[in-house]
Amino acid sequence: MSFSPGSTIGIIGGGQLGRMMAMAAARIGYRCHIFDPHEAPCAAEVSGRFTRAAFDDVEALRRFGEQCDVVTYEFENVPVEPLGVLGDKLLPGTRSLEVAQDRAVEKRFLEQCGVRVAPWREVDSPDDIRATLADLGAPILLKTRRLGYDGKGQAWVHSAEEAESAWAAIGRRPAVAEAKMSFEAEFSVILARTVSGESRAFPLTRNEHDGGILRRSTVPAGPEIDGSAATAVAAARAIADALDHVGVLTVEFFACANGAVVNEIAPRVHNSGHWTIEGAKTSQFEQHLRCILELPLGDPSPVAAGATMENLIGPEVDRWAEIIAQPGAALHLYNKGEARRGRKMGHVTRVGVSATASTRK
Ligand code: AMP
Repeated sequence: MSFSPGSTIGIIGGGQLGRMMAMAAARIGYRCHIFDPHEAPCAAEVSGRFTRAAFDDVEALRRFGEQCDVVTYEFENVPVEPLGVLGDKLLPGTRSLEVAQDRAVEKRFLEQCGVRVAPWREVDSPDDIRATLADLGAPILLKTRRLGYDGKGQAWVHSAEEAESAWAAIGRRPAVAEAKMSFEAEFSVILARTVSGESRAFPLTRNEHDGGILRRSTVPAGPEIDGSAATAVAAARAIADALDHVGVLTVEFFACANGAVVNEIAPRVHNSGHWTIEGAKTSQFEQHLRCILELPLGDPSPVAAGATMENLIGPEVDRWAEIIAQPGAALHLYNKGEARRGRKMGHVTRVGVSATASTRK
């Protein structure tokens, strides 16, 4: 059964991903209802309805579910259990959330799917950190199992002497420790999967990070990445199938000399797919909606030879006036208020440029 235009899509989380999803929904005639605990989330500004409530408020979630035809999420750090009241209306389902929320569960799951991940160990104390250093060699990267994003909740450990301070730096919380991967580049696969299990991937996207935050994404990703396309898309498909995922799933990879290694997954649309709004025949946001609304999948192919997306982080948003004056620059601002350090405030996409050549130094 597909949902006709005029139906209401509930979106859990009111950030910029929800905002861009709601804008895509409006274009094809659907209404959106945002569920978020904040006072004025930026997605609510472009949606017809907004419920302000805590993510674990079961009664509020129940009422929200009754007012929506289908419910999705744009943010994975929400408690899973209360979402049970949404039943089958929730797409993707809670399994995708459970796996993506906990790095240890995620890595075990990825290994079961037969995909490569960095050598890793579970870590629950400074002693575990020292044992992992002895086992995997230095340096290792500590990452909290839960609630880490944009490089938050992470600390490098170069020697046993740093075990205590690194443990303190991540808040003494259950963590994983990973071997340092030496990679040539990073990339992501953004794959959309329907209720019946059909899936389509966008072209591989090359991602450059700075301090754990995505700075820039480019397509084409370049020959050293595109050479792994078949394996990487097959891995993403295996992951989506094993989760019975419905909607967009993002898989982030390291391109290593001996092949692609999965870093992490996100059960949702992703920052590295923002270029698809102007740069692909169907955007990642519309493709996600098509999956959950049971509409035919759109064409994910690029509209031009290349595209580049640059994030505007913190005070960089002040460059808006210069950017909007540039021919060919598509400016997106999220209207999030205060331009705090490290906060994603907007992005700019340029289509048709030979992106890999023009933006990489
Ligand atoms: P994450 O939050 O896991 O996406 O990590 C943020 C960024 O840190 C990644 O995009 C990489 O640039 C870097 N990073 C994460 N894990 C590793 C690793 N095992 N080895 C080297 N760099 C890493």
